[in-house]
Amino acid sequence: MTGKTHFVVGANTAWAAFLFLPQDLWFIVLPVIGGVAALLADLDNRHATIHQWTKGLLRLFLIDRVRHRSLFHSLIIIPVVVFVSTFLYPVHAMAPIVFTLGYISHPFIDGFNPQGCEYLYPWGKNFRLIPKFLCFDTGGLVDQMIFGLGSVGIVLFLLVYSGLMQISIG
Ligand SMILES: [Zn+2]
Repeated sequence: MTGKTHFVVGANTAWAAFLFLPQDLWFIVLPVIGGVAALLADLDNRHATIHQWTKGLLRLFLIDRVRHRSLFHSLIIIPVVVFVSTFLYPVHAMAPIVFTLGYISHPFIDGFNPQGCEYLYPWGKNFRLIPKFLCFDTGGLVDQMIFGLGSVGIVLFLLVYSGLMQISIG
């Protein structure tokens, strides 16, 4: 999946906030937090959007030490993500949940790549979430469709947030 697809899918995890807390003014930061969190998993990919944004600054620490779609796309990174997310609590009470879900959305949708992910790292086996013949490539049509749907989701989020649209959950 491309960086922009990861970003918009991660940004949609902000919807989770509606389930847990009544909406407040700072809901507006949540899609950004979810979107950025979703880019972090690709710190292990030298061509990733996150490295373009940081002008390669983060690359100094991580690149070439971690195989792509291994540690950062695995289950054992999740406790670390949860720990890091707690530092966002002062930003917004829902920020840790959105950050964690946004991050997890990344290896989740990467599971639809033909290459799969090493979910059980350090075991080097690649897992896919669907059969290989249904998988689709980064930048392909399905990737773009997910980007489109994710973008619609964000527009809806902003409409609901701004009160232009009403939803009721539960
Ligand atoms: Zn990835």
